Amino acid sequence: MNDPLAWLDETAQDRRAAGLRRSLTPREVVEPLVDLASNDYLGLARDPRVVEGAVEATRTWGAGSTGSRLVTGTTRLHAALEEELAAFCGAEAALVFSSGYTANLGAVTALSGRGAVVVSDVAAHASLVDAARLSRARVVVSRCSVPAEVDAVLAEAPETRRVVVTDGVDSVDGGLAPLGELAAVCRARGAVLLVDDAHGLGVRGPASRPGAGLVAEAGLMRERGVVVTATLSKSLGSQGGVVLGDADVIAHLIDAARSFIFDTALAPAAAGAAQAALGVLRDEPERVAALHAAAASVAASARAAASWAGVAEPTAAMVPVVLGEPELATAARDACAEAGLRAGCFRPPSVPEGTSRLRLTARADLGADDLALVDRVLAEVLPAVRGTALTG
Ligand code: PMP
Repeated sequence: MNDPLAWLDETAQDRRAAGLRRSLTPREVVEPLVDLASNDYLGLARDPRVVEGAVEATRTWGAGSTGSRLVTGTTRLHAALEEELAAFCGAEAALVFSSGYTANLGAVTALSGRGAVVVSDVAAHASLVDAARLSRARVVVSRCSVPAEVDAVLAEAPETRRVVVTDGVDSVDGGLAPLGELAAVCRARGAVLLVDDAHGLGVRGPASRPGAGLVAEAGLMRERGVVVTATLSKSLGSQGGVVLGDADVIAHLIDAARSFIFDTALAPAAAGAAQAALGVLRDEPERVAALHAAAASVAASARAAASWAGVAEPTAAMVPVVLGEPELATAARDACAEAGLRAGCFRPPSVPEGTSRLRLTARADLGADDLALVDRVLAEVLPAVRGTALTG
């Protein structure tokens, strides 16, 4: 009998040859490496208050949520979390999902559908891309960094139901979407603007509410037609996703978002941890400034070590160091790990061909010793990797 999965081996070989084979590396409780790869931007995932939030919620509500949100899965804890997220971000209402991925799937599909058009940013996160495909709407890929391009697409679109989707903070390079201009285009063209603020929540925000997100910073949280999604798994150190918007939008998602309706509700532990983390963020807004100071320090180290990599001033937690071919990025990642630094490594399809890179993410809880090690390791590794590339 022929092996119906014989093609797997060939695919694996192709990926290996292209430097694109992935592998999983389990973490230890006590990590020997300074971590510049995680999304725990505010250092809250292991904060005792956040851990206690998960423990207490588990004791009170149980290990599992017992059902979907519309049946038994909505506890008072879920309701309180939604109220607090909406209040902190400045939205009228919020709806918690089991992940940021399912929040995007639910929001985009329920707000578009057959007969609609979704204008999707060229660099939109994979979950937005998948959501647009799943929606059965006509999908047009455009550059949200150039609002006039989005305007031109909308001007030509025959559909009356229109949704523009973009990340607020780019998940790879930290670039900020021009939300004010995009909102103006959407307002003029009758389109919903859906912003995925996964990397903006806890990182960007107005001076009066650091961490409330890029949409709040742009003063657009109450703008009619602006819908925001985010994850509870990055700055808030927990797990889960949220959609923020007008009350009638949230009511519609409860009726129509399939990834909300047919999914078991977020576990109490995750909801409790997210609620506790939000409390820490409200009480200690200085964590956001500490994150930005750490990002600036990491960027300065990378720039000093690799002037040729064009490291920009960071606007969020991530510092991309573009190296070129995937092998270079993996070599740099491995050399960093040897020297005591865990660095994120992005290769195609996460980034365009020829732009494989290290993605260093800062955290609010990096100390002076950590940052000194980052400086030492990058100064050693980046020139060496570059040298190999030029001679090899
Ligand atoms: N959107 C963006 C921009 C993300 O970076 C991620 C996480 N990688 C998600 C959505 C998905 O969120 P979650 O991990 O909570 O599913």
